[in-house]
Amino acid sequence: MQNAGIEALKNNWRYLAFDVHPDQLRQTIDGAKAMNFIGLNLTVPHKLLAVEIVDIIDPRAKKWGAVNTIVFETRKSGKWVPVGQVDATEIAEVRTRGFNTDADAIVQSILEDFRWNNLRGASVLLLGAGGAARSCALRLAEEKVGTMHLINRTREKAQQLGAEIKKENSKVSLFYDYPVTPVDLVINATSLGLKPEDSLPIELDWLKAKKPKRVYDMIYRPAETPFLKQARKLGCKTANGLGMLLYQGARALELWSGKKAPVKIMREALLREVYGV
Ligand code: NDP
Repeated sequence: MQNAGIEALKNNWRYLAFDVHPDQLRQTIDGAKAMNFIGLNLTVPHKLLAVEIVDIIDPRAKKWGAVNTIVFETRKSGKWVPVGQVDATEIAEVRTRGFNTDADAIVQSILEDFRWNNLRGASVLLLGAGGAARSCALRLAEEKVGTMHLINRTREKAQQLGAEIKKENSKVSLFYDYPVTPVDLVINATSLGLKPEDSLPIELDWLKAKKPKRVYDMIYRPAETPFLKQARKLGCKTANGLGMLLYQGARALELWSGKKAPVKIMREALLREVYGV
């Protein structure tokens, strides 16, 4: 996805994947900085650790408590600019700035996939309270959803998340049980569904009785989890997490390059890579 986007933007860069032990994250970031890397993407558990490592953190990444994108910046004419937006000969002192492009990507994907104008006032059942659920819930509160039902295997984590949402002065009504009425949107932000033997992330009886309007699963591989399949058979509109993956990547490329991301090309590359289509 990123290499297809980079090529379309005609940037002479390459996007590469590296396995990094969490204990060596700091050295890895320093190494990349010394080698004039343009930027980095980070995944679990590095996203959380990087919050404490980057030189500067974007306020929203701080709010979500996770950095998934690092932009290396250099000083040019007294201003800090992304290394990817200056000539290589102009790179001098370099610092790291951490961003989070995940949270906006989930909202963008939900709105696009369900052809929905906005989430204001919506009733949402969110399954999970891990890293992805956390930024999703805080971001949904920002979108002014009306009610959120937070369900998690470890109930206290859902309650902690609720307390964080309330700290942001959100007006959203929070509950920690299954809703008694149907909801506009159910989101699976648990890891249940990644493996074929996984149980459903939701109480099947509730799903059958309430038939929510829209069901979103953050998992994108498999393309249709057993949860999404059940929901589709019940007549719910369904979408998987591919759009979320796409938009977090597109935004990262924009931060590095300063150019509009070629989303169509990136989506096609992603579909080829993930589903072979
Ligand atoms: P975390 O490990 O932070 O959270 C995992 C969540 O799943 C927790 O709520 C955990 O509950 C729950 N869970 C795990 N195992 C079970 C189980 N056996 N029964 C019930 N609940 C369980 O992971 P992330 O938040 O990073 O990721 C969550 C999901 O979102 C994953 O499937 C991941 O692939 C997907 N994702 C998709 C992205 C995309 O771009 N589409 C981006 C990021 C994530 P508990 O708190 O009780 O442990």
